[in-house]
Amino acid sequence: MDKFKQAKQRLQCARSILIVSHIRPDGDAVGSVLGLGLALQDAGKYVQMVLDDGVPKTFRHLTGSRQIQKRPNGEFDVIVVVDSSGLDRIGYALDGYPVPDLNIDHHVTNLNFAEINLVDSQAAATTEMLSKYLPQWGLSITKPIAEALLTGLITDTIGFQTPNVHSQTLRTAASLMEKGADISTLYRKVLVNRPFAAVNYWGFGLRKLQIEDRVVWASLTLDDRNAAHYPGSGDADLVNILASIDDADIALIFIEQPEGQVKISWRAKPGFDVSKVASQFGGGGHKPAAGVTIEGELDEIQTKVLEATHTLFNGRVTNS
Ligand code: 5GP
Ligand code: MN
Repeated sequence: MDKFKQAKQRLQCARSILIVSHIRPDGDAVGSVLGLGLALQDAGKYVQMVLDDGVPKTFRHLTGSRQIQKRPNGEFDVIVVVDSSGLDRIGYALDGYPVPDLNIDHHVTNLNFAEINLVDSQAAATTEMLSKYLPQWGLSITKPIAEALLTGLITDTIGFQTPNVHSQTLRTAASLMEKGADISTLYRKVLVNRPFAAVNYWGFGLRKLQIEDRVVWASLTLDDRNAAHYPGSGDADLVNILASIDDADIALIFIEQPEGQVKISWRAKPGFDVSKVASQFGGGGHKPAAGVTIEGELDEIQTKVLEATHTLFNGRVTNS
């Protein structure tokens, strides 16, 4: 039996299912958990949905988001991990639980950590995969499920602009709209609207903007976060603004974290593969977008990571 049928059978036979995704959840993580979770609930399954970091405010309008817990409780017939390249990405969500049954993901750096691994690195989002799988698994896509799935597509493709958007991606989006998802409202909620504090926080990073050999970067410290009263722990998507700079092929942001860690995000123009440089530091991601969190002091890490990034891309050399 192929692994796709095995996955279907495991889900069909299960009464209780745990669905988990990655820390610092984005729209694809939340959308995949909810899309699959709500569909399985509609099919009569007992489902727990877990994100170690909870649901960011941006996604709390999605139906079912209040059901998402930070830790599971009890035992489950089947454990599913979505949109996560490895078990190191899910925080403490599966501590004390066995090896997951199912791994559904689209990261090129996926480690095939589950018993059944459905990994499609061509897919623009994990929710794109789920949009195809759910009907094939006999699960229906209701309006709330379509909204969750379309959210993942919108956020992972940054509004359908990444090079992995194919005509099929748009067909999938269209079919989710036909199930009732309002693309304009979702797009505004997850990609356009942002609090004053977020844009103010950008200002602190933008003041430190630098460019060398077509690599552009900025940093955000804990002091910047406090000064801007920004409540999140990320960069408020500033890296995507840096990625729009014409004079660079690679954009990076360094975000100081509590307890001596630094989060790094890379973004690349088409033709470059930043997952390679992220992997060098133990992280991962996709060709156009990758990240890692490492221990150390901001200045030191910045020097080391910039050097590795320049070495790999040598300014103008394409790498894919
Ligand atoms: P971001 O930089 O926006 O957090 O993430 C960009 C991409 O890289 C996402 O696909 C995300 O899942 C992946 N990514 C971010 N941080 C890590 C990490 O620490 N490890 C791995 N394996 N992937 C990461
Ligand atoms: Mn994703």
